[in-house]
Amino acid sequence: MTEPKLDFSGRTALVTGAGSGIGAAVARWLDAHGIAALHLVDINAHGIEALALTCEVHAHVHDVSDPQFWGGFERAAGKLDHAVVNAGIGSGGQIAEQSFKDWRRVMAVNLDGAFLTLAAAIRLMRANGRGSAVVTSSITAVKPVAGIGAYGVAKAGVAHMARIAAAENAALGIRVNAVAPGGVDTAIWDAGEAFREAVAAHGREAAIAGMGASHPRGRFATADEIACDIGYLLSDMAANVTGVVLNTDGGYSL
Ligand code: NAD
Repeated sequence: MTEPKLDFSGRTALVTGAGSGIGAAVARWLDAHGIAALHLVDINAHGIEALALTCEVHAHVHDVSDPQFWGGFERAAGKLDHAVVNAGIGSGGQIAEQSFKDWRRVMAVNLDGAFLTLAAAIRLMRANGRGSAVVTSSITAVKPVAGIGAYGVAKAGVAHMARIAAAENAALGIRVNAVAPGGVDTAIWDAGEAFREAVAAHGREAAIAGMGASHPRGRFATADEIACDIGYLLSDMAANVTGVVLNTDGGYSL
């Protein structure tokens, strides 16, 4: 019997939100596992440039919530084997206190953007006759954490979108899964008001460590740890896994 491998040679992947945090770690992970070409999408050009990858890189400095971008991408991308639907922004505030403007801002990137990305990727994979995608949801989709308003709702939406897309495409040889990370030490936290106050009072390392204390392992995950989870789900090692939302949260949801 031939063992399936974590080997991506000859393959092309799309990663959104690749300029920072989890997306950047996934791009590095795929590069280290032999990927031939990467389409990296982010509004942050510097983050993509800083990656220093060895594979063929196509940098797309675009907003994932722009349908026109995805129309052009689909026409030009060619063969696509894998997609990581990952770009996202944070939000604060309780449901009763969140402005409609902020609600729409979060939905535009985290839900509409994920829909546009996944839909375009699946159409390209259908033309390719196979493929796999992973969507970055969040443990806040599973566990109702107070005070994150639109974010948790959007993340529940993308988790279910992955399950529906899995059901629609399993017979076509295309797998779709989601990861639901707990806290991960990335720049997404830096925009939050409460976090900024904690950083001003105690420094960033202590602020991250303070929040990590609420997780059973006593710390947040690293972006590299989440990249391993995503890499496994993308790979042929997970050939029999589709429609799963994997709680990559160090036990936070238990
Ligand atoms: P990050 O801020 O380090 O990275 C997010 C990236 O997405 C950034 O490079 C940013 O420029 C990009 N981005 C934001 N809006 C965009 C847009 N409209 N178009 C294109 N690119 C855009 O944060 P991260 O933690 O690596 O976040 C990655 C994903 O992981 C997000 O979907 C986030 O919700 C999810 N997530 C993060 C955590 C955590 O604790 N960090 C936990 C669970 C889920």
